[in-house]
Amino acid sequence: MKTIKRTTTLEKYLGIERKKKLNIGFIPTMGALHEGHLSLIKACRANNDIVIVSIFVNPKQFNQKEDLVKYPRDLAKDKTLIKDYCDYLFAPSVNQIYPNGKNTKVKLNIDHLIQSMEGPNRPGHFEGVVQVIHRFLKIIKPDSIYMGQKDFQQFSIIAYLINQKSLPVKLHVCPTKRERDGLAMSSRNLRLAPKHRKKSNIIYQALNFAKEHLKQLSVKEIEQKAIEMLSLKEFKPEYFDIVDAYSFKTVSNIKKHKVIVACTAVWVGNVRLIDNMILKGEDKF
Ligand code: AMP
Repeated sequence: MKTIKRTTTLEKYLGIERKKKLNIGFIPTMGALHEGHLSLIKACRANNDIVIVSIFVNPKQFNQKEDLVKYPRDLAKDKTLIKDYCDYLFAPSVNQIYPNGKNTKVKLNIDHLIQSMEGPNRPGHFEGVVQVIHRFLKIIKPDSIYMGQKDFQQFSIIAYLINQKSLPVKLHVCPTKRERDGLAMSSRNLRLAPKHRKKSNIIYQALNFAKEHLKQLSVKEIEQKAIEMLSLKEFKPEYFDIVDAYSFKTVSNIKKHKVIVACTAVWVGNVRLIDNMILKGEDKF
């Protein structure tokens, strides 16, 4: 695995690979890698000649400075985890991704996709995600990009970006990897206090509750009950929304929607965790 920090260097290497007609698969990450990231990398490895992982803590997608500052970083450990599966690790500086004087901003109206869930709770977040992924796609020009279902709204918005801008890349969405107790793997889990970590699987339990009761209770009743379940001491659920998986609009009659997803964000102490589960329909995206 070659570690590359400069955009121009990466472009040079990938140009050579492309001339050999090799397929390029790309996994964007913010580092502090775990088995969840690795599952994306393995899926990419199985279907591409060249695997490239980026590690870049994108300042433009953090709406809270504390979250950006405290985001875990351990490049040496990340390298050890992925070195046997990747050809290139791209770990650029902020200047490489947002060079001064260059207009790197993509115009895309995502208003209809950010009216609920993460949108209102993290102003500017998805605009930042769209910007960085668009920049990466322009630099790397991969044939495929791999993202996790864990960040449901995120992959949907990137699917929209690819579609609207007719970008020549195929998006693959991989299932959420969980700890043994059901907690979705996340780089932020490292910041949980042990007493909070022990109880954090309540998030998975609340999502399962929603799935099991979709036919017996109304959507409103489920959402209310889930919020109650999540309101443990020092746990603050921000939302628990049952929505149409494509429009993110509230569901009232479950029969009218092909795919329904429950999405939630919970403050556990000072760590914000998100998770989701498909309640109805096919969960292959
Ligand atoms: P991040 O480093 O948090 O930006 O995540 C990079 C990619 O890994 C995103 O596409 C995430 O959705 C995905 N990812 C994060 N956690 C998991 C998980 N537990 N299972 C599967 N994919 C994940």
